[in-house]
Amino acid sequence: MLIRQIPIRNSLSNYMYLLACEETLEAIAIDPLDHALCLRVAKGLGWSIKVVANTHHHHDHIGGNDPVIAATGAQLVSHLEAMQSIPNVNRGLQAGDTLQCGKLSLKVMDTPGHTLSHICLFFSGTETEKPALFCGDTLFNAGIGRCDLGGAPEIMYQTFVEQFYPLADDVRVFPGHDYIENNLQFALDREPDNQSAQSLLAQFKAGLSAESYVSTIGVEREINVFFRLDQAQVRSGIAESLGTDVSRLDDRLTFVCLRRIRDKW
Ligand SMILES: [Zn+2]
Repeated sequence: MLIRQIPIRNSLSNYMYLLACEETLEAIAIDPLDHALCLRVAKGLGWSIKVVANTHHHHDHIGGNDPVIAATGAQLVSHLEAMQSIPNVNRGLQAGDTLQCGKLSLKVMDTPGHTLSHICLFFSGTETEKPALFCGDTLFNAGIGRCDLGGAPEIMYQTFVEQFYPLADDVRVFPGHDYIENNLQFALDREPDNQSAQSLLAQFKAGLSAESYVSTIGVEREINVFFRLDQAQVRSGIAESLGTDVSRLDDRLTFVCLRRIRDKW
């Protein structure tokens, strides 16, 4: 699979993606908000966009659909239940469906939490290519999506338990926004002794570009506090903020409280 991660550099730091079949150069555009840039990049690469895929219905993900479709004749796909909120969807997707483009094949994951109708797309990899997860606004590098714009943290937790925590360490993570530096700062606010988070943040401060950095699930297990619910420092911080004993916390409550603290942080 050919992948282009395209930073939009708007106030929300959205990423959009072009994924192409290596043989046919037919491509899927994920959340192509900056339609002109998306079309320009595809043209420059010689890729022809056949599918526009929306991870969810928020405007910063669907706002570029119409012009991309007008220019390419692409089919629009989304979560089946997001079809009420996203105009002109051609195909509603459900968990386990396959999204095909040329010889490229992606698995559809139903991942509620940020919104109640959110999909991720999963590439299972080949002998020479690592798997990849296109996760919209569920999982971010070193953080997770908000749950107060139509979602719920308890539901997000269930999605992580059932679908993200079990993923293999070598799965590459391609999120819908670039919030990594701020998220690392939050991770360190919760877990100051996390050396992996410290050293990655130091690399960004020293000039490493977030736009060219791609994490993996294995890296997220080290730097993302939402993957580190059982760490003593994380737990004791939550217990303190709730005024309760650490023995009363479980993973679910820790996750939900972390999300609430992050909302106000
Ligand atoms: Zn969103």
